[in-house]
Amino acid sequence: MIDLRSDTVTRPTEAMLKAMMAAPTGDDVYAEDPTVNRLQAELAERFGHEAGLFCPSGTMANQIAINVHVAPGDEVICHRLSHIYNYEGGGIARNSGASVRLVDAPRGAMPADVIQAEVNPADSHFARTALVCVEDTVNKGGGAVQSLEMLAAGSDASRAVGLPFHLDGARAWNALRTTGQDWGRYGQMFDSISLCLSKGLGTPAGSVLLGNRDFIEEAHRTRKVMGGGMRQVGILAAAGLHAIEHHFDRLEEDHRRAARIGQLLSDHPSIAQVAPVETNIVIAQLSNGRSASELVEAQRQEGVLCSAFGPDKVRWVTHLDFGDGDLSRVLQALETWR
Ligand SMILES: *Cc1c(COP(=O)(O)O)cnc(C)c1O
Repeated sequence: MIDLRSDTVTRPTEAMLKAMMAAPTGDDVYAEDPTVNRLQAELAERFGHEAGLFCPSGTMANQIAINVHVAPGDEVICHRLSHIYNYEGGGIARNSGASVRLVDAPRGAMPADVIQAEVNPADSHFARTALVCVEDTVNKGGGAVQSLEMLAAGSDASRAVGLPFHLDGARAWNALRTTGQDWGRYGQMFDSISLCLSKGLGTPAGSVLLGNRDFIEEAHRTRKVMGGGMRQVGILAAAGLHAIEHHFDRLEEDHRRAARIGQLLSDHPSIAQVAPVETNIVIAQLSNGRSASELVEAQRQEGVLCSAFGPDKVRWVTHLDFGDGDLSRVLQALETWR
């Protein structure tokens, strides 16, 4: 089976496993795992932040960040398509007691004027706006890359009224590979950043949260409260360090293969529309009357797994374990479907 349901299905490579086996470890709850400390320091430095915190998942990294930034009763501004709102189990309300103000703009964009319009005035009738969250790339937006100018303007607008600007950068690697932006300059725009190691970079697990020293100190406490304090996780951090060095540049291959799938779908008689393919995610809308589950099942019969993304939309995600030979098979499977 060729699995394109998500880029989380990858297995650690031989070289990654070797790096994991060789990693020095310690108890990370005491902050004594040298490999975790190295990963945290390296990412903090490269993104221009003071400190980092290794977390079990992207969801936990985001939820910790929100929890540190807001108090119960506060409000979080985020996009209608955002992962923190759609796919984290209602965690903003459940973990932090905060309400959400949803922004709607094409493909997950958060323009400065749209953010400004959603900030509540300082008046006891309203919830206190406490945080602005952006996502890059936008998962539900078809892997859309945020414009750097728009991010900079959103950051300035948020900070001008004293609001921290958080990045859900689970897929930031794909964005950075596409734009070629310097990681440090990119990182400066945000007050906190969560980065996933287990998506495009292909490690078995782990995310890193970045921010200033006080923020990370508080995040360390919140991670413990949420049950995310782990022990000798240097083995996972080693996979992350290996992946940053060896799996970042090759993301271009994932993007090229996704573009090829998107291209074929654009010309397909049973596909109405394909969202612009900017990174490694392809989302296609079927023509009238064709159902997503029908296409997903037909592809499964041909040995290809993709996922229904709503009643008439299907998603493919390319990744580390998907090569050019697999690409030919996927293109063939799509051509035989009518
Ligand atoms: C996958 C993802 C997450 C959450 O990551 P998990 O490790 O699955 O919890 C958060 N945000 C975005 C945009 C993602 O794609």
